[in-house]
Amino acid sequence: MTRQAGSDRTIPATDGAVTHHAADDRLACLFVAGSGAFQRKKIWTSLEESGNSVHRFTGPVALLSAMGSTPPDAILCEMAAAPEPVFELLSQLARLESDACVILIGPEIGAGQVARCLRDGAFDYLTVPALAPRVLDSLQRGLMNRQAFQAVRDLSGQLAQVNATLAGERDVLQQWNMKLSLLNHLTQALAGSLNSESIARSLFNGLAGLVPVDVIGLGLSDPYRVWTWSRSTVDEFQEQRVREHLLSRFNPNAALISQADAQVLRLSTGIPVSGRPAHLPCEPTQQGARSVMTIPLTLSPKSQGLLYVEGQQGTFSESELQLLSMVGTSLSLALHNAAIHQQMHELASRDGLTGLLNRRALEEVLSRELKACTRYHESACLILADVDYFKHVNDLFGHVGGDAVLKAMATVMQQAVRDTDSVGRYGGEEFGIVLPHTDLDRAAVLAERLRDQIECHEFDVDGERVRITVSVGIAQLPDRTIRTVPQWMAAADAALYAVKGGGRNGVVIHTPGRSSLVASATV
Ligand code: GH3
Ligand code: MG
Ligand code: MG
Repeated sequence: MTRQAGSDRTIPATDGAVTHHAADDRLACLFVAGSGAFQRKKIWTSLEESGNSVHRFTGPVALLSAMGSTPPDAILCEMAAAPEPVFELLSQLARLESDACVILIGPEIGAGQVARCLRDGAFDYLTVPALAPRVLDSLQRGLMNRQAFQAVRDLSGQLAQVNATLAGERDVLQQWNMKLSLLNHLTQALAGSLNSESIARSLFNGLAGLVPVDVIGLGLSDPYRVWTWSRSTVDEFQEQRVREHLLSRFNPNAALISQADAQVLRLSTGIPVSGRPAHLPCEPTQQGARSVMTIPLTLSPKSQGLLYVEGQQGTFSESELQLLSMVGTSLSLALHNAAIHQQMHELASRDGLTGLLNRRALEEVLSRELKACTRYHESACLILADVDYFKHVNDLFGHVGGDAVLKAMATVMQQAVRDTDSVGRYGGEEFGIVLPHTDLDRAAVLAERLRDQIECHEFDVDGERVRITVSVGIAQLPDRTIRTVPQWMAAADAALYAVKGGGRNGVVIHTPGRSSLVASATV
């Protein structure tokens, strides 16, 4: 007998010897179907005695009914005079996806019929008289063939599994790739924003696509500012709570100040929030798990910030937390850079001696106001003031003494105006004041008060008291002769020099069309 490679099927060898191959300790299960004489063949008994399990059936129909309970390894079926039941058996076996090795034994049926049997799934067709060695040889080859087929089938199953795993990993990698690309865009947008408000806008635009967040808040301590965002109106209630939380976090007196003072902006709507923080009457209606993450932002020793993110559904995954942490790092850097940029801009706009706006910054303010006045038909005034006989101050007290007077004068001027007005040093001992939303009457009152204050002020230069006066010119917008900043400056300058011509220490208003003429003599 021969034991099949890869199984323990104990099949008698064709020479009658018994050989054992590596096996899985399972004996072959054989179905034998045919007439009584066929079932009684000695060979089946011999196989049974070798330990195989042999089940006998009266024909294909009886055999099929037993297929469900015991799937056979091999089927040995007698082909009777009418071949149809056997063809039906083959087709049913195919439908059941049986992998049993089918050997048919029968009369000479011609090559065509044999080919059909093989095509329909039979492994072999043996013509009677089929001697035992031939049957055993065929059975042995059939079982080996089946075993090889099963091995290939198992391998391809494993391959399909590996493919599915790889496809899953490819999807994960693709998702990461997309997230990293979004993170890259966000980081670039943050780095390219040079003020905190555009940083907040870039953050809210980019972060919502990167991580499933529904509410975002950003708070800064210095300057004290808060921005919030919510994905939908459903989250507005929660957004308000986040806003209040950040307000109180960065200013212990938050209850005392209005949200407008804190420059709170709801960027989801772009509408500035004004009024005092409302008291919330009840808890949010939203129930269930919310995930919240707060990321402290260290911008400088005196300026701190906080990024607050909240998702209404489920918890943030490990990778989402990693992304949020990376966003926090980029955000800190961007805000730090923006603060430095702001400081540089501030430094570049200031006059070194007096700390007032320098000439370039003053011209920027003039340009902005000119545009606003043209567009909205508003009025604005420019006041130019020049110290009278300043050369004498320098002659008497030296250049350093003159500087001290200029510095003190800057303080007097700065204190005389409102926060919304801009005071600058136009050059030498000449100063400019831009008054937005101001008509001529109010500007004239301010100019005269300023002139008077300076006249009355006692400037201290190394313990000595110095008195000076100023000549002041005013030019108002709208003015049909003024279309550019230099024209506006020239108009105020012409009025100023009219004062000089009139004896100094006075205020003159520029009259449209008569730029060189004095509209109003010393007030
Ligand atoms: P007026 O305007 O009344 O015609 O006489 P003034 O003497 O003020 O006129 P002028 O414009 O001729 O002289 C301005 C002086 O201001 C001359 C200049 O040395 C001085 N000056 C300009 N810039 C500075 C400065 O930064 N510091 C000091 N100490 N003096 C300055
Ligand atoms: Mg002067
Ligand atoms: Mg001058």
